[in-house]
Amino acid sequence: MLRSVILAASRSSQVERLVATAPYTRDVVRRFVAGAATDDALRATRGLVDDGLAVTLDHLGEDTVRPEQATATRDEYLKLLRMLGAAGLTPAAEVSVKLSALGQKFDEQLAYDNARAICAAADAAGTTVTLDMEDHTTTDSTLEVLSRLRKDFPSTGAVLQAYLRRTESDCRELSSAGSRVRLCKGAYKEPESVAYQSAREVDKSYVRCMNILMSGDGYPMLATHDPRMIAIGEDRARWFDRGPERFEFQMLYGIRPDEQARLAGEGYTVRTYVPYGDEWYGYLMRRLAERPANLVFFGRALISKK
Ligand SMILES: Cc1cc2nc3c(=O)[nH]c(=O)nc-3n(C[C@H](O)[C@H](O)[C@H](O)COP(=O)(O)OP(=O)(O)OC[C@H]3O[C@@H](n4cnc5c(N)ncnc54)[C@H](O)[C@@H]3O)c2cc1C
Repeated sequence: MLRSVILAASRSSQVERLVATAPYTRDVVRRFVAGAATDDALRATRGLVDDGLAVTLDHLGEDTVRPEQATATRDEYLKLLRMLGAAGLTPAAEVSVKLSALGQKFDEQLAYDNARAICAAADAAGTTVTLDMEDHTTTDSTLEVLSRLRKDFPSTGAVLQAYLRRTESDCRELSSAGSRVRLCKGAYKEPESVAYQSAREVDKSYVRCMNILMSGDGYPMLATHDPRMIAIGEDRARWFDRGPERFEFQMLYGIRPDEQARLAGEGYTVRTYVPYGDEWYGYLMRRLAERPANLVFFGRALISKK
């Protein structure tokens, strides 16, 4: 219920104005977002890589409605990739891209062209791209763009969301050699017709999907902070004899950093998803929807007079 309300608010421009102007919002944002500028993203990446973690960088922004915005997003990724390459941070750092930020909602071909330019720049810099997955109305289009991109850039990765009923079948399709799949639970408000609604059903689906990916021939990326899912992931890695070069764990910047360090210390590949940029609102609201404890922290910040 609370999750639904917060996810509904994530689409409201009125609530966005209220949140953006509250005095302590910046402190909350800083906990989950590396900063506004490309340099901030590079600084955070350097720190994480020095600590033995891999990184995927996300330039915040989604649901773009104008071609110029989509082009500006593409150009920011091209700049970021040049800077990562020049700083010697690839291939430890790759990038995550939302097709809706590249024009998918109004022109799929434009989104494809922009994503292709980003894949080419990533390839030139010695790294790769993962396509984030957004709400279920975009899944078919995103998987279609993925399959076109993989013809020239086979290491381009996809995200699959365990809460969607279709995802077991998508996992089977994408568990072949060379295929990189990030498995997450899913962060959007979805109807019962397409998505499991209870946490228990979503967790069971996550485990079924993990079994398919870990027993397949692709490269699974287990994106979760859930201790039970992580323990099952560790177990499947032993069972299917997958070393650190054949799968990885992924977590979000600012969430369970101690667990990220623990897993890396045990020899696993751990990648931190680092968002940066000005358009943090939708991202922040999805993080709040996931965890009531974050909401208490945020509520205090909103009403603070200091
Ligand atoms: C790298 C990465 C990329 C992602 N990309 C996408 C995407 O493209 N599309 C999409 O829809 N979603 C994406 N997500 C978000 C994802 O779908 C989930 O919404 C999010 O990860 C929360 O689910 P969870 O598996 O962590 O477990 P949850 O069910 O949220 O939490 C389970 C348990 O994990 C622990 N936990 C969770 N958060 C915390 C915390 N802050 N502090 C301490 N313990 C905590 C608690 O024990 C909690 O009970 C991504 C997530 C990650 C990590």
